[in-house]
Amino acid sequence: MLDVAGGGEGSDVAVRNPATSEVVATVHAASEREVDEAVARAARASGSWREMAPGDRARLLRRFADAVDGHREELAQLEVANAGHVVGNARAEAEHVRDVLEFSSGFPERLSGRQIPVGGGVSLTFHEPLGVVGVIVPWNFPMVIASWGVGPALAAGNTVVLKPAELTPLSALRLGELALEAGLPEGVLQVVTGSGAVVGWRFVTHPAVRKVCFTGSTEVGRKIMAGCAEQVKRVTLELGGKSANIVFADADVARAAEEAPVGVFDNAGQDCCARSRILVQRTVYERFMEKLGPAVERIRVGDPGDEDTQMGPLISESHRRAVASFVSPDQAVAARGRVPEGPGYWFPPTVLAPVDPSSRAVTEEIFGPVAVVIPFDDEAEAVRVANDTPYGLSGSIWTRDVGRALRMARAVQTGNLSVNSHSSVRYWTPFGGTKQSGIGRELGPDAAVPFTEEKTVFIATDG
Ligand code: NAD
Repeated sequence: MLDVAGGGEGSDVAVRNPATSEVVATVHAASEREVDEAVARAARASGSWREMAPGDRARLLRRFADAVDGHREELAQLEVANAGHVVGNARAEAEHVRDVLEFSSGFPERLSGRQIPVGGGVSLTFHEPLGVVGVIVPWNFPMVIASWGVGPALAAGNTVVLKPAELTPLSALRLGELALEAGLPEGVLQVVTGSGAVVGWRFVTHPAVRKVCFTGSTEVGRKIMAGCAEQVKRVTLELGGKSANIVFADADVARAAEEAPVGVFDNAGQDCCARSRILVQRTVYERFMEKLGPAVERIRVGDPGDEDTQMGPLISESHRRAVASFVSPDQAVAARGRVPEGPGYWFPPTVLAPVDPSSRAVTEEIFGPVAVVIPFDDEAEAVRVANDTPYGLSGSIWTRDVGRALRMARAVQTGNLSVNSHSSVRYWTPFGGTKQSGIGRELGPDAAVPFTEEKTVFIATDG
């Protein structure tokens, strides 16, 4: 058992393996005073970090990426033990963290400003770092989402205080150690464990924290945005989703049905991009369902450390109960997978159909392995149903008609879409939500820019 208790004044919290419900570590929960101390350290470290030559900052970030690369397996195993991620996914996640850091290491030397033609002199712009940035992370992709905030924020010359979710702090704590081992100066990246109400909220209220980069539920995101408004604090919000997977009759229907489970049950459905509403054109509905059922039943649910497992447990017993509440006893179940017996927070992959369009399973984010299937007649109806949600994060469109693919991609109100694929996140491209799925974008070629302020300097040349 790992003991990363801090010995400070906050209390310690037991962290569990969701596949076994066993305690795997005890982690310190910081008090408000301890957060303030961390922010003060980050503020002190800020001056020399922002003034460091861009090439040196880039080199340290590359070393950090190399340190992650050298500890990929260890980080992956932490995500298996603490978040219940299947080991294949966890390894890909550790590689993704390395890649995000490496990609971010390109920013310090490329964050160039502009020279704008004006009369009487020269106008220049600079991308100035903000100072201390607070990054708040959920439990579903602990180290991956941490890296999306940490890499670009550090690259832009900010120092970072990082708060992992209470349930899944272990990989973030290890990332903090690896940053120090890689040579990042003390105070540049600090991991502060503890509750959202104490640690996360202090990031919102502390005046020295100049931006909050939050990923989590829409409910908490709203509070964070309102709290940040008090100080007109910069905020990025990556929130919930209820994305649609839209299958047209002219698609490769068999392939669309085989792959639909990947689009929603990956990470046991605990994915903000989960395509949990499967919209199928009515003329191929029966054919689609005939293929989808066996594909769902074939999903291998079990020990996430086993190489053959495709789906692991849910994160906690209370989350398992919340997910179960979406499947009422009178609801028709079109397909259901199997789960292991014994301890652990298991829930079978479940497809609900037919569904009442006003039921909670259709309208709310479930964040578990439960999907609904809804028939539609034509493009206009598909767009209407897809957009009939306060969310707008992700989605998929299956069709062989290029014109239709583009029309649909433009009409569906989301931040990210894929055609004939369920790919959502690529570190080369911007990622984020529309409507109540969030504000701002992460990743992509401009990822460092939202962690800066553009400053304009006019230099008179007329003597
Ligand atoms: P959550 O909102 O409960 O918690 C997220 C983080 O915020 C945690 O670290 C938590 O401790 C902290 N927090 C909670 N209350 C706080 C407060 N009052 N002040 C400051 N911080 C606070 O979310 P969760 O249950 O950990 O994660 C699941 C949610 O995250 C889902 O809705 C999911 O869709 C969303 N999510 C979104 C994305 C995205 O990129 N859009 C990615 C992953 C997850």
